[in-house]
Amino acid sequence: MKHYTSYKDTIKAINSGKSSCYTIVQDYLKTISEKNPEINAFVQVFSEESLQRAKEIDQKILEGRAGKLAGMVIGIKDNICIKNHNVTASSKILKGFESLYNATVVERLIKEDAIIIGSLNCDEFAMGSASENSIYGPVRNPLNRNKVPGGSSGGSSSAVAAKMCLVALGSDTGGSIRQPASFCGVVGLKPTYSRVSRYGLIAYASSFDQIGPLANNVEDTALVLEVIAGIDKNDSTSSSRKVGNYTCVNTKEKRKIAVLLDCLELDGLDSEIKNSIDKTIEELKQEGHEVEYLSFPYLDVLVPTYYVLTTAEASSNLARFDGVHYGYRTEHPKNLEDTYINTRTEAFGEEVKRRIMLGTFVLSAGYKDDYYKKSQQVRRIVQDKTNEILKDFDFILSPTTPHTAFDIGKKQTDPTVMYLEDIFTVHANITGNPAISLPMYKHTNGMPFGLQLLSKKFSERELLSFSLELMHEYTKDGK
Ligand code: GLN
Repeated sequence: MKHYTSYKDTIKAINSGKSSCYTIVQDYLKTISEKNPEINAFVQVFSEESLQRAKEIDQKILEGRAGKLAGMVIGIKDNICIKNHNVTASSKILKGFESLYNATVVERLIKEDAIIIGSLNCDEFAMGSASENSIYGPVRNPLNRNKVPGGSSGGSSSAVAAKMCLVALGSDTGGSIRQPASFCGVVGLKPTYSRVSRYGLIAYASSFDQIGPLANNVEDTALVLEVIAGIDKNDSTSSSRKVGNYTCVNTKEKRKIAVLLDCLELDGLDSEIKNSIDKTIEELKQEGHEVEYLSFPYLDVLVPTYYVLTTAEASSNLARFDGVHYGYRTEHPKNLEDTYINTRTEAFGEEVKRRIMLGTFVLSAGYKDDYYKKSQQVRRIVQDKTNEILKDFDFILSPTTPHTAFDIGKKQTDPTVMYLEDIFTVHANITGNPAISLPMYKHTNGMPFGLQLLSKKFSERELLSFSLELMHEYTKDGK
């Protein structure tokens, strides 16, 4: 059994007759059946359907009419709708719910002949940093099965890292693509807000959410972004800007890079992570890139701002789960109010309830000016300050996370400890800028960790080109 780690190698093997879509899908199904019982990344596997699709695409390849992702095997986070399949966002409240339509991203992948192999476990409604808040149970990190894979797209990162699919889609509201990518040693990209349609993504915090790819390398990430990005009449917030050519060339341009001192001086940042980032900065300087340290006195307010605004939006978005419209309904309700209360009490998990309560509180009449409005103002200040930095610099560089993957169960008891995991990632969601995590390092504890780059809005092409250069030139094995 052979798993290719890039789309380039996959399609080469298919075109040369060494393999076929059918064989490739069979191999992935085999790996899933071996590894998934323990890793728990997939919550549904579409075995028959993907084998059938593989056959059809093999035929299309023979006839020279296959799309640009022909034979790419993809897993989809369980908060993205796939037609005629259950979609639950890992919540009991959506148990039994079947989607009547495909999310735009899924539709676009299928149109280019990607093969959707199944749906992936995550934190309930994408709320979490460890993929432990799920009705399906925790996901395990394939690199050390006692550790979390990160969250909330932990099913996506572990499926790619364990070679159970070539690429996965995740969603990122405050880091849920980049943090699990960092914990599992894969690439994870959060595109610019509005670059990718959110139609068919179960909303957590609508002004923060973005869908993006997790992959083994920058090239596959770019290829998938190229397919899923672009305006969509079903999402009025999607941008009408032209989609660039992201499958990039390595431009070797000299770049201007900002490093936020406050990030590197953060109390509690793992010293090995700090040293590795420092070393990369030195290497970048030696290569002729300009690197400057800047102060960013807003680091402390990012996490609180994020949690006030996202919980406010979540409390409104999750109001639709009432036991009437979708999925689960309480048994024997006495009246309508009873239906609402009991359904929600029985079927939302603890973290989701906590966030609905917090969100309702920060929006309540007596407090909304102190919390919600204040946080909106802080969001604007952070956006302005970030834009100002990016006028002079191409990228803001930081670690993706303050630590490597932690043990399962370790941070479950104190939500505020868990929330601080997002300290470096929420920035890009507060501002709407694109950001990527690159699996450049390995800790002496054996776990990988990522370097994060944040760039100007809609500059995915530059972001991906520079990422490619970093992965090729600045990692030991240069792959
Ligand atoms: N870990 C963050 C949270 O719990 C981010 C979640 C996300 O990006 N979906 O909110």
